Amino acid sequence: MPKTITLLGSTGSIGTQSLDVARMHGYRIFGLAANSRVEILQKQIEEFHPEYVAVVDPAACEKLDAALAGTANAPKLLKGPEGLRTLAAMDGPDVVLNAVVGIAGLPASLAAIESGHDLALANKESLVTGGHLVTDAVKKYGVKLLPVDSEHSAIFQCLQGCADRREIRRLILTCSGGPFRGMGRDEVGRMTKADALRHPNWTMGPKITVDCSTLMNKGLEVIEAMRLYRLPLAQVSVMVHPQSIVHSMVEFKDGAVLAQLGTPDMRLPIRYAMTYPERGENPAPPLDLLNSPPLTFLEPDRETFPCLRLAEEAAEAGGTACAILNGANEEAVRLFLAEKIGFYDISDLVAAARATVLVTQTPSLEEILSADHAAREAVKSAFARRHS
Ligand code: NDP
Ligand code: MG
Repeated sequence: MPKTITLLGSTGSIGTQSLDVARMHGYRIFGLAANSRVEILQKQIEEFHPEYVAVVDPAACEKLDAALAGTANAPKLLKGPEGLRTLAAMDGPDVVLNAVVGIAGLPASLAAIESGHDLALANKESLVTGGHLVTDAVKKYGVKLLPVDSEHSAIFQCLQGCADRREIRRLILTCSGGPFRGMGRDEVGRMTKADALRHPNWTMGPKITVDCSTLMNKGLEVIEAMRLYRLPLAQVSVMVHPQSIVHSMVEFKDGAVLAQLGTPDMRLPIRYAMTYPERGENPAPPLDLLNSPPLTFLEPDRETFPCLRLAEEAAEAGGTACAILNGANEEAVRLFLAEKIGFYDISDLVAAARATVLVTQTPSLEEILSADHAAREAVKSAFARRHS
């Protein structure tokens, strides 16, 4: 069946891989959205002819507006965060794929769901910060929430045919361990931005790549899994699996363990989320198990990588604790990418924000956004104190 898609975050790593899938299958693109990378967006407009384009950054928006002036069949341009939400809510697509990075994706996820759209979700921060709002809205509006994150897609695939979630003993999220796996704290403490951006198995946007090096990504994914599958922390485990071939597993009460395996290529989960429940051809190369390295599994090292522990603690605390964790992490990673702080400053700043910002239970969207803001401010002032 031909598909029509609105793609938020089209200029990023997931966005461009989603367009690979769309190109292969001839899917129609109804809307595209990005923040500031206008040149990439312009090429996408020329190739996919969307009806609407949303640009969040005001200067980028003006630039695109000028570039499109006088172009025949130019898409209608929507501006700012409001434009992103408007596009997410517009009728036209069969599915909205949210591949925006950060909490900036949360209002758009909610707008898509509340307008009755099925949501293919790469933006894990939507579930980490606004989990109950997202899952409650999915229930209320009767739409599908289709995970794009490879681990959550693996679990989703393993759960097809499971009618009673009480049969699950635990979910096992696999984790590559990142580029610093096996190193001790002293060595890890000397790692720079360039080292952190060298992920062994996946090519991704800079924020998630740093999150993989600190294991915060796995921590965010633990929270994402708890929200998606409505399970407590005790039923979500993490195993380091350096080969990134087993994308995650479900252990059932009878002891059966189902796993989804595949080449590490995000186009598989992207495609499954776009076309669920159908499967079909994919640009990702097939898995060649006979020529793959042995599959190994290890306990994660929470002492060397404290971000995983911090995320698990926030998951236990509930309420706005995860929004505080996420906001502080986004701000700390921004400072790390600007080469203003070292590797362990990320976890120290996140811990400082968690210690100072008060947690509210069952928060509204406004309370989540204000917890995010407070966490960012806490990181900025802790950083300023250190450098004064
Ligand atoms: P990228 O940094 O590569 O891309 C992010 C996208 O979001 C870009 O299109 C960017 O626009 C846009 N964007 C950034 N800020 C805003 C904003 N304030 N408002 C609207 N759009 C914005 O990230 P990834 O593609 O790597 O990741 C996207 C999401 O998918 C993240 O939540 C990540 O955790 C998740 N994910 C990614 C995986 C991967 O393999 N990359 C795997 C699993 C999950 P512009 O380019 O113009 O700045
Ligand atoms: Mg993942």
